[in-house]
Amino acid sequence: MRLTRYFLPVLKEAPAEAEIVSHRLMLRAGMIQQLAAGIYNWLPLGFRVLKKVERIVREEMDRAGAIEILMPTIQPADLWIESGRWDAYGPEMLRVLDRHERRMLYGPTNEENVTDIFRRHVKSYRQLPLNLYQIQWKFRDEIRPRFGVMRGREFLMKDAYSFDLDAEGARRSYDTMFVAYLRTFRRMGLTAIPMQAESGPIGGTMSHEFQILAKTGESHVFYDQAFEEIDFSAAELDIEKLKSLYAATDDKHDPARCPVPPERLRTGRGIEVGHIFYFGTKYSKPMRATVTGPDDREIEVEMGSYGIGVSRLVGAIIEAHHDEHGIVWPESVAPFRVGLVNLRPDDPSCTAMAEELYARLCNAGVEVLYDDRDERAGVKFATMDLIGLPFQITVGPRGVKEGKVELKERKSGARTDLDPEALLARLLA
Ligand code: ATP
Ligand code: MG
Repeated sequence: MRLTRYFLPVLKEAPAEAEIVSHRLMLRAGMIQQLAAGIYNWLPLGFRVLKKVERIVREEMDRAGAIEILMPTIQPADLWIESGRWDAYGPEMLRVLDRHERRMLYGPTNEENVTDIFRRHVKSYRQLPLNLYQIQWKFRDEIRPRFGVMRGREFLMKDAYSFDLDAEGARRSYDTMFVAYLRTFRRMGLTAIPMQAESGPIGGTMSHEFQILAKTGESHVFYDQAFEEIDFSAAELDIEKLKSLYAATDDKHDPARCPVPPERLRTGRGIEVGHIFYFGTKYSKPMRATVTGPDDREIEVEMGSYGIGVSRLVGAIIEAHHDEHGIVWPESVAPFRVGLVNLRPDDPSCTAMAEELYARLCNAGVEVLYDDRDERAGVKFATMDLIGLPFQITVGPRGVKEGKVELKERKSGARTDLDPEALLARLLA
């Protein structure tokens, strides 16, 4: 992508209302733009990251055996009256009337809708276990939308729903999601600690939140320092061990009953990026979602639901990966892998070299953002550092004379002068 043809509205100054670093950087890097409180436009650079995060989430859900569907954002009130949540859900739910005065809502979550799909089509225990998921926008009329996409009112969520014949099967489904979550966050360069949590308006008996430790997090968390020794990058994660270690959010933490001695108990703040629930028959009972069991009896299915904050993750990743110059994207979610800077578009030899590199990288399938603007070098470097692409290539007159270009790794800042062939070999390895 040529920057002269792209739409990258970077800002010199972060607007005053942005309180935390990820919000400031997303605005400055031209990733998002607020339309109304907690409601954002995703501009091209931000949208590319959102899509990459979404893709990782999708791949790990598919790998875990969940099946993707898409449910509408607008739902009829009837289903929520059936489950009892029309009255139970508070002012976070955005309720609307259609032209026939029928009560509708913008979905804050989809348990009722998916239970309705299930009960219409699944009749036998032989069709279980089943896990259906979607990646869809949600609306919650949060009392205090803030921190940009971290606490929006409209936000993108992955929500999965499992159906099992019995509690043992439901626990297996829960554990499968538990592992998939750890893998998902790890692929984005995040360490998410699973913590015992309250299940809130979703309801249920067992629940874990996945929390990224960060000073700017909104959750107060308590955890065994043993978590600091866990290798979250290990190929095989010991889920029993992870579940047995103590970690809890403040609404669940009880100092009187905490099994961890004070000297081993850590406290801090976390960003909740995922939340999983086992709630048994909370929805299948009132909504009559049953299957016939092996002995021909009607059985209410055991359910769980599993959320990931896809749009919140974009902010959370930046909280974990930035420095004083800007964002430092992990490769897996970077909007482009390489930033190519032509320092002198007016110099034919520089431009010939930059164009050749651009063409060859693109042909090899590398995502390149090519700064071909007529701008000062300082502005170009600052923009590249701000948007945080993993690799920067600089083509300038001095190097070109010697047949060299510079490769800089954004994360370490390490720079190397390379001839173009060596550079391509390195990036395409
Ligand atoms: P929170 O405690 O942060 O309000 P929640 O517990 O109400 O979140 P869940 O119902 O567990 O949210 O939703 C699943 C996931 O969706 C959360 O783990 C979070 O990552 C994300 N999420 C929830 N609310 C928001 C929001 N207002 N803006 C962005 N992401 C959100
Ligand atoms: Mg939650």
